[in-house]
Amino acid sequence: TRLEKSSNGKLREVIDLNQPPSTITREFAFDYLIVGAGFSGSVIGERIATQLGKKVLIVDKRNHIGGNAYDHYDRSGILVHKYGPHIFHTNSREIFEYLSKFTEWRSYEHRVLASVDGQLVPIPINLDTINKLYGLNLTSFQVPEFFASLAEPKDYIRTSEDVVVSKVGRELYEKFFRNYTRKQWGLDPSELDKSVISRIPTRTNRDDRYFTDTYQAMPLHGFTRMFERMLDHPNIKVMLNTDYREIHKSIPCREMVYTGPVDEFFDLRFGKLPYRSLLFKHETHNQAVFQSAPVVNYPNEHLYTRITEFKYLTGQEHAKTSIVYEFPRAEGDPYYPVPRPENAEIYKKYKALAEATPGVYFVGRLATYKYYNMDQCVAQAIAVYKQIAAKQQAETVV
Ligand code: FAD
Ligand code: UDP
Repeated sequence: TRLEKSSNGKLREVIDLNQPPSTITREFAFDYLIVGAGFSGSVIGERIATQLGKKVLIVDKRNHIGGNAYDHYDRSGILVHKYGPHIFHTNSREIFEYLSKFTEWRSYEHRVLASVDGQLVPIPINLDTINKLYGLNLTSFQVPEFFASLAEPKDYIRTSEDVVVSKVGRELYEKFFRNYTRKQWGLDPSELDKSVISRIPTRTNRDDRYFTDTYQAMPLHGFTRMFERMLDHPNIKVMLNTDYREIHKSIPCREMVYTGPVDEFFDLRFGKLPYRSLLFKHETHNQAVFQSAPVVNYPNEHLYTRITEFKYLTGQEHAKTSIVYEFPRAEGDPYYPVPRPENAEIYKKYKALAEATPGVYFVGRLATYKYYNMDQCVAQAIAVYKQIAAKQQAETVV
């Protein structure tokens, strides 16, 4: 096939069946085919449809929009996150304001306790964690010295083990991080990039919030409602229960945005890129409160890493309560890219291939193999949208 300008100035695809003189021509049904209705696909679809006036088809192989941020009311009427706890936080005013077009918010600062040595203590490690764990009465001014007495200084911080051991020493590393990480990733922290555990700070004060971002909030009516509003536009059609491979030949689109796993797009040509998976076990209990914090981490016990109790996140009032356990898995839906040098090498090859694939934009956590939070996905999607808009403008000028 080749592209041709039609009389109304639009590009159209001309299919050469090698049978002159009956050349078949078709208009594109959509300007953009977007694979994946998660944060990445939905944001870019919304921008293209509303700002560029282009027709967008979003397909997702799941039976719902929202990707991994999807939430829904369970059988007891409690709002739960199907794919584990999702808490929105960002330092970017632009991103917060952008999402505010589609939702109102409920202020929410996330807090997590870790079950260590038979006690529940704050994680990230802070002043109270140390005092409770060691039966001490240190002040904020004494904690840096306490950490320094335990730390094993390193010249170069390369791995996730280095990050913790160099800051707070081996004992706290073993109590809070080593086993949780082995469970979560199936790898020792010494085999993972420093970026993984660097997500968790160490504090010398009593701040027990999991995140310190300027904006921390939950969509007032849930993530799915926010996505519904984002996608509610005449230029956007959504097709669920559909793998894009089933339709992309029969529904011609001018360009594509792909937010699925990058290795699958290229039929695993350079081998499988590891993505870590989870099995979620949801339960509802006939009691108003299940645990004393929104999330409790279990570094050293059980096969699961953490338990989340959703009502803390959503603020919902209900006589019952719903929770979810996360059991890490190697196989299953891809949830996490696995940041380590071997995988970066494989991804580099796929990235080069992606860059050499015209008409397809690779966006999001799975397609760019980045351990991104939701706000980072929004930022990346908006950046790619801006590239698309600039290209459109350049084409219009020509
Ligand atoms: P996804 O949400 O994975 O969407 C990709 C979509 O593409 C999927 O719906 C998939 O079905 C679809 N797809 C793939 N292949 C195909 C195909 N061939 N055809 C059709 N459709 C296809 N971030 C935070 O900011 N805060 C948190 O608290 C937080 N907690 C998390 C907890 C867990 C357990 C997990 C796994 C992630 C968490 N995240 C959190 C990260 C967050 O989920 C991601 O940043 C974000 O949802 C990724 O969006 P995405 O659109 O890039 O990918
Ligand atoms: N981590 C840990 N112990 C904890 C919490 C986190 O070892 O109590 C490590 C673990 O490797 C985890 C990483 O820090 O995968 C990032 O934690 P985060 O809570 O950000 O993970 P996510 O919510 O993305 O699953």
